[in-house]
Amino acid sequence: MLTCKQFLSELTDYLDEKTSTELREKLQRHITECPNCWVVCDTTKKTIQVYKGMQSCSIPEDVHARLMAAVERKIADCGKPK
Ligand SMILES: [Zn+2]
Repeated sequence: MLTCKQFLSELTDYLDEKTSTELREKLQRHITECPNCWVVCDTTKKTIQVYKGMQSCSIPEDVHARLMAAVERKIADCGKPK
């Protein structure tokens, strides 16, 4: 069983489909058991989809940086001790 911290550190690779099948299965199992990480995963996935959808009309550097900062903030919030 992965910890939330491990899950979040693999999240971007998971969404980019860069993880091994074994790790991917572990990550998928984690989200079915951890609603908190499911929300982070879902939000990040949607953000990436929006971002990819916008790439055709080339988004400015600063918008990209803000987007990534927002995602990182979200992940950091999740990692805080309860
Ligand atoms: Zn979790």
